[in-house]
Amino acid sequence: MSYFRPNIERMSGYIPGEQPKDGIYIKLNTNENPYPPSSRVLHAINEAVNENLRLYPDPVATAARIKIANVLGTKPEYVMAGNGSDDLLSIIIRSFAGEGDKVVFPYPSYMLYKTLAELQDSTACNIDFTEDYALPKDFLIKGAKVTFLANPNSPSGTMIPSQEISRIASQIDGVLVIDEAYADFAEDNCLSLVEQHRNVLILRTLSKSYSLAGIRLGFCIAQESLIQGMMKVKDSYNVDRLSIAAVVAALDDQKSMKTHVEKIKETRLHLMKSLQEMGFFVYPSQTNFVLARCMRGISAHTLYQELKSRKILVRYFNLRRLDDCLRITIGTREEIDILIQHLKELLTTKHSKISNVCCR
Ligand SMILES: *Cc1c(COP(=O)(O)O)cnc(C)c1O
Repeated sequence: MSYFRPNIERMSGYIPGEQPKDGIYIKLNTNENPYPPSSRVLHAINEAVNENLRLYPDPVATAARIKIANVLGTKPEYVMAGNGSDDLLSIIIRSFAGEGDKVVFPYPSYMLYKTLAELQDSTACNIDFTEDYALPKDFLIKGAKVTFLANPNSPSGTMIPSQEISRIASQIDGVLVIDEAYADFAEDNCLSLVEQHRNVLILRTLSKSYSLAGIRLGFCIAQESLIQGMMKVKDSYNVDRLSIAAVVAALDDQKSMKTHVEKIKETRLHLMKSLQEMGFFVYPSQTNFVLARCMRGISAHTLYQELKSRKILVRYFNLRRLDDCLRITIGTREEIDILIQHLKELLTTKHSKISNVCCR
């Protein structure tokens, strides 16, 4: 007999991308930023390493909320900080969805949404994107307590226009969580919807555009009544002293973030063109990764394995609609050129090991 609740017993748990212990891989599998964080962040963390670490941090991370509000042009009362946006997603699901409640999210998208619904023993309504990653007509489910939408989406990199999301926000019953982990790489975002809709929550993170995945800092923007309620649900001290120092310094250095984002967007264009020339179908990307479908008879899984044996890690999902694709994080120009070189080698029929796998 198990001690666990039946829903926990049944679920398989979220499986994060590989994080190899040694540094010998070109790591293009978990959408980390290839560039270092701002030197101001490293300085601020060093400054915060002092005797005050014996004291608890500010429970509501006031300094971080003020800085975030300033940069985004909103009020600190509209902001909540978390131990990564995954922490905020967990706070949101515990705040708004219980046993048997409907939780809606599209497929394929960020796999954590399903795990969160299972944790609550909620009813997960997983609705397929259309072939070209538009939202289907039946995306609106009556009585849903929480609707998650990663925008831009992962793993497709595609984006739903903000006007359409605004329309959804006014038609659904519960809250709409717009997970904008990749907003800094995109042409548009939904921040302005927060004033217009009392059920909209926007999530941002320092993990991708600010090169701080190791710090674990995310934030949520929503109207004050939602933020106040969620404050009751979070851990008392969910953001530590070093993270608060880091986020303030990181947001102070917009120039460093934007310079790196521009480089990544240039490299993204270069990689997309090269992949298309090699015969891949590449989804239009508004993120720091691309989703490429293998069109040449060689399986995506074989390519993933061959790249791994050449010390290049990309993401392969053994899942419906994704098992013929590779998701590739945009690294430095040098890393991406090495990847392209290896892919070219692997795709030439001359390559002995692969040629028998090629069926065309
Ligand atoms: C990376 C990612 C997150 C997690 O962000 P953290 O702040 O590192 O927890 C959340 N949502 C999406 C869609 C992501 O890609």
